[in-house]
Amino acid sequence: MINREMFGYGSEKSSIREIAAYAAGRKAAIGADKVYDFSLGNPSTPAPDEVRASIERALTLPSIQLHGYTPAVGLPEARQAVATSLNRRYGTDYAADDLFLTAGAAPALAATFRALVEPGEGAEIIVIAPYFPEYKLWIECAGARCVEVLADQETFDIDVDAVAAALTAHTCAIVVDSPNNPTGAIYPAETLRTLGEALDAAERRFGTKITLVSDEPYREITYGTEVPWIPSIHDRTVVTYSYSKALSLPGERIGWVLVPPTHPEHDELYAAIAGASRTLGHVCAPSLFQRVLIDCVDVPPNVAAYAENREALTSGLGKLGYDYVEPQGAFYLWVRALEPDADAFFQRAKALELLPVPSDSFGCPGWVRVGYCVSHATIVDSMSAWEKLAAHYA
Ligand code: PLP
Repeated sequence: MINREMFGYGSEKSSIREIAAYAAGRKAAIGADKVYDFSLGNPSTPAPDEVRASIERALTLPSIQLHGYTPAVGLPEARQAVATSLNRRYGTDYAADDLFLTAGAAPALAATFRALVEPGEGAEIIVIAPYFPEYKLWIECAGARCVEVLADQETFDIDVDAVAAALTAHTCAIVVDSPNNPTGAIYPAETLRTLGEALDAAERRFGTKITLVSDEPYREITYGTEVPWIPSIHDRTVVTYSYSKALSLPGERIGWVLVPPTHPEHDELYAAIAGASRTLGHVCAPSLFQRVLIDCVDVPPNVAAYAENREALTSGLGKLGYDYVEPQGAFYLWVRALEPDADAFFQRAKALELLPVPSDSFGCPGWVRVGYCVSHATIVDSMSAWEKLAAHYA
């Protein structure tokens, strides 16, 4: 017997991964410089020098310290380093024991959803569309229904009235991702305050508890707009984070879940996340990269490189007449497809070796996501293909 649901997840790959694999094949066939792969959020900016220095230092440690198991929750020194950094930046009072280190944001989210959902009771988790497509998979595997609520289609801010209308007695969580993948929107403090009030009102109305899950792997990649610290706005919040983007370490798998002490069910929720992680086969986050955190927790990303790419892409596509959402953070550009069917538009782009991601899997038809964490040359060199694509529709 083979589980049909798991077979389905394994054989229907994510559209982002499928396009990235196609791009790799085309690069091998016709040359890397002739393929414009804007699919995967795999940062081309190198990991900072401090990371290499930290790894080199760690390599001198005794083997058991370097390669041995750590506590499942993570090394106390690494969790303390993260807590100290957050406290300095956000004026909070977090302790090492509020943090659970994970192999990136993906398992942090999968465990958090499992910790919040009582399967078989019709639980619902709200996501703001467009959203990172893997959320749906993790939510459904936790035993909940993924409820998509469209963002404001002008500003791509959260449409709080639409969220309020979607809240039910079954809602157990809402996911907020700011700076947003795929739109680059940063949700203002006022929006988050109003959202918090809507959640509080629903809790009173239904006699339930609704946790805000703030997924923040792009927190430090911003272009002049501040990212509000949500646990200081709404108590029943959990934060998931990853160093995949900020330190360009997506293959190394390191991140965390923070259950702030202000969360009214702090102790139970923290224990449930630990339990859920255990059921998912988590043993500990990679030991070497827990050590890297101790040294590099405050090392900033190379925002200047992304800002330069953002400028080249937005000014280039703007001149060609494309409509896009000005990104305030992260490294994705949300571009309106030149026909209503984003997939058909993608097929035309693909014929020109241009590989963005069509928007349907993000829960929002009619757009494509263009990841600009690529080399600057890829953006500059892709412009003639974007021009041909626009000319096709002129
Ligand atoms: N959340 C968002 C919004 C993402 O964009 C990603 C990865 O692209 C993840 C979570 C997963 O991050 P990680 O690679 O740390 O598992």
